[in-house]
Amino acid sequence: MAKFEEAENRLFNIKICLKCNARNPTNARVCRKCGHKGLRYKAKEPRG
Ligand SMILES: [Zn+2]
Repeated sequence: MAKFEEAENRLFNIKICLKCNARNPTNARVCRKCGHKGLRYKAKEPRG
Protein backbone atom coordinates (compact mmCIF):
# COMPACT_ATOMS: atom_id res chain seq x y z
CA MET A 1 0.00 0.00 0.00
CA ALA A 2 1.98 2.92 -1.27
CA LYS A 3 -0.53 5.41 -0.04
CA PHE A 4 -0.30 4.21 3.51
CA GLU A 5 3.46 4.29 3.42
CA GLU A 6 3.38 7.79 2.09
CA ALA A 7 1.06 8.90 4.83
CA GLU A 8 3.26 7.30 7.43
CA ASN A 9 6.34 9.00 6.09
CA ARG A 10 4.53 12.28 6.14
CA LEU A 11 3.59 11.68 9.72
CA PHE A 12 7.04 10.88 11.00
CA ASN A 13 9.19 13.02 8.79
CA ILE A 14 8.33 16.09 10.74
CA LYS A 15 9.61 17.93 13.73
CA ILE A 16 7.53 19.18 16.57
CA CYS A 17 8.16 22.46 18.28
CA LEU A 18 8.73 21.98 21.98
CA LYS A 19 7.19 25.33 22.70
CA CYS A 20 4.05 25.54 20.61
CA ASN A 21 3.84 21.98 19.24
CA ALA A 22 3.65 23.23 15.70
CA ARG A 23 4.66 20.81 12.99
CA ASN A 24 7.75 21.76 11.06
CA PRO A 25 9.64 20.19 8.18
CA THR A 26 12.60 18.06 9.23
CA ASN A 27 15.01 20.49 7.63
CA ALA A 28 13.70 23.33 9.75
CA ARG A 29 16.19 24.84 12.18
CA VAL A 30 13.65 26.84 14.07
CA CYS A 31 9.92 26.68 14.45
CA ARG A 32 8.25 28.38 11.55
CA LYS A 33 5.44 29.47 13.77
CA CYS A 34 7.09 30.89 16.88
CA GLY A 35 10.79 30.80 15.99
CA HIS A 36 11.70 28.53 18.88
CA LYS A 37 14.89 26.55 18.39
CA GLY A 38 13.73 23.51 20.28
CA LEU A 39 12.46 21.05 17.73
CA ARG A 40 12.21 17.33 18.19
CA TYR A 41 11.45 14.57 15.75
CA LYS A 42 8.05 13.09 16.06
CA ALA A 43 9.18 9.72 17.33
CA LYS A 44 7.20 6.55 16.99
CA GLU A 45 9.27 4.55 19.41
CA PRO A 46 8.33 4.58 23.11
CA ARG A 47 10.35 6.62 25.53
CA GLY A 48 12.95 5.00 27.66
ZN1 LIG B 1 6.90 26.84 17.86
